[in-house]
Amino acid sequence: MRVLVTGGAGFIGSAVCRHFVLALGHEVVVVDKLTYAGNLNSLAPVASNARYTFEKLDICDASGLRALFSKYRPDAVVHLAAESHVDRSISGSNVFVHTNVVGTFTLLEVSRAYLEEGKHISKDAFRFVHVSTDEVYGSLGESGLFIETTPYNPSSPYSATKAASDHLARAWHRTYNMPVIVSNCSNNYGPYQFPEKLIPLTVLNALDGLPLPVYGNGLNVRDWLYVDDHARALGLILQKGLPGETYNVGGRNERRNIDVVKQICACLDELRSSNRRHDRFISHVTDRPGHDQRYAIDASKLEADIGWRATETFETGIKKTVRWYIDHSDWWEPLRKKYRGERLGL
Ligand code: NAD
Repeated sequence: MRVLVTGGAGFIGSAVCRHFVLALGHEVVVVDKLTYAGNLNSLAPVASNARYTFEKLDICDASGLRALFSKYRPDAVVHLAAESHVDRSISGSNVFVHTNVVGTFTLLEVSRAYLEEGKHISKDAFRFVHVSTDEVYGSLGESGLFIETTPYNPSSPYSATKAASDHLARAWHRTYNMPVIVSNCSNNYGPYQFPEKLIPLTVLNALDGLPLPVYGNGLNVRDWLYVDDHARALGLILQKGLPGETYNVGGRNERRNIDVVKQICACLDELRSSNRRHDRFISHVTDRPGHDQRYAIDASKLEADIGWRATETFETGIKKTVRWYIDHSDWWEPLRKKYRGERLGL
């Protein structure tokens, strides 16, 4: 299968490319603008593989996309390109609307024209997997789980633009019969994540002896999924998912933010032979505006219909992740020179 992966130089996109090329044997064409979050070093494990190609392009560029569809004639699109950081969306939402909404619209339209030409592949055989987030559902109270039919109620500019793009993707299925599948996933963590997100930021600040910022009281709850489990889920959704369906993807690993940070500190205490506890750097800071209290995913549809299940628990996944950052300063040091973890989105 030849798969066009948008956002393939990002955190999840690069994990998808590594999995598709190395484990599944797909051909992958990465389409990525290489924003601050895109990093070709994350694709180094596949860079010399004959099944991998990279194209630098903005997904809002319709004529550029049309040329790529003609050149590569993909069997599927897995759409991950997005602006993805909530704090940045609070500081400046313009680029989020542009990439997440207009970019998704442009990609859907170019895919539709490609399918309607009917020259390369039938609609039945093609797949468009639109990758989204559980944040579109809004915030949960102390109990309950998001299911695929939970009404959308996004809180941040980021989640509002992702919700808009999900609606577009579903409308293109309903109206034009495009073979679109939507996946909504919980918080991902693992290797190659840009060090602005909670887990890599905490690890790197702790390694540097800097404060470990925890927003508000730290009691907000997220459901954590190891990124390679997500990549595997997307491979299976591409293979077995039904057009028009939505699949929730989650790890059954709910944790309070403060406990995530404490667990990272405990891992570092164990892995580094320092006799001082890393949690002494924890520092509670002003909360995020509109901070959702709790997200939790019910992934039982994906488990029952597709046969996927997360393989990592938070305990196993976080150890691997902390170890990876300790061992891969060559990957993150250049990024830390450009972004030191300054607070955004106040
Ligand atoms: P990321 O920020 O690490 O990567 C985004 C990638 O998209 C980068 O390589 C960037 O260069 C590229 N990109 C941005 N704008 C572009 C444009 N206009 N044209 C082409 N490329 C562009 O993001 P991520 O964490 O890997 O998330 C990937 C997708 O998964 C996003 O759609 C996100 O909403 C979704 N998602 C993320 C999480 C998470 O926890 N990270 C959870 C659920 C869903």
